[in-house]
Amino acid sequence: MVAEKRVFASCPRDCYDTCAMYAYVDEEGKLVKVEGRKDHGFTKGFLCRKGQKILDWVYSPHRLKYPMKRAGPKGSGSFERITWDEALEIITSKLKKTVKEYGPTSVLPYEYAGHMGIISRYYPYRFFNRLGASQLLYTICSEAGKRALIYHYGTPAGMDPEDVPNSSYVVVWGFNPAWTSLHLYTLIKNSKAKVVAVDPVRSETTEHADRHIQLKPGTDSALALGIANYAIVNDLYDKRFVEGHTFGFDELRRAVKGYTPERVCAICGLDGKEFRSFAEEYCRTKPAAILMGLGLQRNVNGGEIVRAISLLPAITGNIGVRGGGFFYSNSSYFTIDWDKVKGRGQERRKINMIKLGETLLDDSLKPPIKFLFVYNSNPAAVCPDLNKVRKGLSREDLFTVVHDLFLTDTAELADVVLPATSYFETFDIQFTYGGLYAALNEKAVEPLEECKSNAEVFTELSKRMGFDEIVEEPEALAEEILKTGTGYMMGITLEELKKKGFVRLRTPTVPHIAFGDLKFSTPTGKIELYSKQAETDGIPPIPTFTESKGDYPIRLITPFHRDLMKSQYYNIKSIYGADEQAVEINKEDASTRGIRDGDRVRIFNRLGDCIMRAKVSGKVRRGVALSYGIAWPKLVDGGRTVNFTTSSHTADLGVGSAYHTNYVDIERI
Ligand code: SF4
Repeated sequence: MVAEKRVFASCPRDCYDTCAMYAYVDEEGKLVKVEGRKDHGFTKGFLCRKGQKILDWVYSPHRLKYPMKRAGPKGSGSFERITWDEALEIITSKLKKTVKEYGPTSVLPYEYAGHMGIISRYYPYRFFNRLGASQLLYTICSEAGKRALIYHYGTPAGMDPEDVPNSSYVVVWGFNPAWTSLHLYTLIKNSKAKVVAVDPVRSETTEHADRHIQLKPGTDSALALGIANYAIVNDLYDKRFVEGHTFGFDELRRAVKGYTPERVCAICGLDGKEFRSFAEEYCRTKPAAILMGLGLQRNVNGGEIVRAISLLPAITGNIGVRGGGFFYSNSSYFTIDWDKVKGRGQERRKINMIKLGETLLDDSLKPPIKFLFVYNSNPAAVCPDLNKVRKGLSREDLFTVVHDLFLTDTAELADVVLPATSYFETFDIQFTYGGLYAALNEKAVEPLEECKSNAEVFTELSKRMGFDEIVEEPEALAEEILKTGTGYMMGITLEELKKKGFVRLRTPTVPHIAFGDLKFSTPTGKIELYSKQAETDGIPPIPTFTESKGDYPIRLITPFHRDLMKSQYYNIKSIYGADEQAVEINKEDASTRGIRDGDRVRIFNRLGDCIMRAKVSGKVRRGVALSYGIAWPKLVDGGRTVNFTTSSHTADLGVGSAYHTNYVDIERI
């Protein structure tokens, strides 16, 4: 293997890290090697397994090679090859007919972060904005937590991960960065800080932490409010900071009074000594960081959980200091004129993306969804309540287009399937929700076979629909987008990215100190321990604890697997090697059900069921089960996955997803 050229690449997966890489191409134009860039301040030159094995994904024999149209009943998997010209003609004529008969909001684009490149993800928005299609509410991932932090801090953007090594005490809360943010985890592991992991399940992160607080799922807000009460009662809060920079402390003091150690321990299933020692250490050790995982808020009370936890750095004076604060999602640091890429559209009907099944089956919806365009997502695997989603996607009167690299479960239910490029086959620029870098992804190789990028597909469609005014060449668009940068994005240009491959945001210091100027974009300009806006919105101004109960005895938690990116790579054996789905259950729950390690079991509730292999382990406490995702239904035993049991009920904020509030029972089969 002789590399002929080396180009800048950047991993666009829905991952905190957004690794900066070099892609090497041989003289025949084939991608032959990918390596991490050692000079990147956060990702430091090493890639996770998914990145190391990426060539197996790019050159998978299962890649879609040409457009196809359905040649049998929906879901039969029967397709026939067509040309791009035919495919685009079928799509545009169907689109025009649908808009004429039912109006533009009968068209729904369905997409998310399958490709996080700014062009690949957002360029198609301008097409649907111009068309006037229904809009998705992007609720599947982080919405409840973002809303939570905005109430109290005015923004969800928090600590620079590169500031974590400056912490003396790191609380990793509902987060398994050893699997989901390898580079953040490496910083934590190599720091001198004492590390405490708060998590209802045992994970690689909890196993290497100095302490694991294994609380009952969904009780995190009680624990946080208990620590707040402990800090106040024991005079361990930072009076100067509270007086100078927070609003509503007296109200908070009154509100948390009832969260005594005894009550909190009873709610969370913790031992009094364990609670006191954690609370004491957190309040006394400075600077302290709390790193919150996104899974925390995928609960019916997920908003209150993030709200409650977020108050702790404020009352302990851990805000605006090096090594202190909270980390959640940093995408808001990337300030550009988003309309420049997305196009400007009027407010239109919004469809909650986690309610795709109900939406497609809703007879009262006016107009009904008649045309679905799916890209950057695989809803027939990742959505909750998959029985409904599949039923909806199987509607004969629904016309579905799927643009993807593989024949996913969703693609199998489509009318037209279009082959998509991998990220090495197209130009893009990238931002991130973890580290504070903008990055360039140069086109390394020509598209495989007949694959096209999102930008190409929507350019072609725009021209055929007569939307010529929204067509822009991706590089020129990227240049324009970057010119609109404000704040820490100001002055970052495409020229600079082309020279360096990545550029650090222009923060006043490196690492950045979050809220270093102690200015907060809340109505009072302070950290609002008491949020009047929340009150106006009909939710408690100070977070509280809400108990959730289900109608089945076991709470099933479904975090992401180390070697998957949500559902991506499930079909690539060398990346994700497991042959079957597994569920980890506690030995007492197993024994009362006559389940032994390795048995085939059925997981079920009123929504559906799936079959898995049981692992009887100490990873979960009694009444809790754990299964990593996200599997492709078509590739598993029985054709059903855990998302056939998850509900599309929503979190308490932002109508976000609540996958982890899932109650099931398990039986041996
Ligand atoms: S998935 Fe994340 S850690 Fe892995 S290569 Fe991509 S950005 Fe890096």
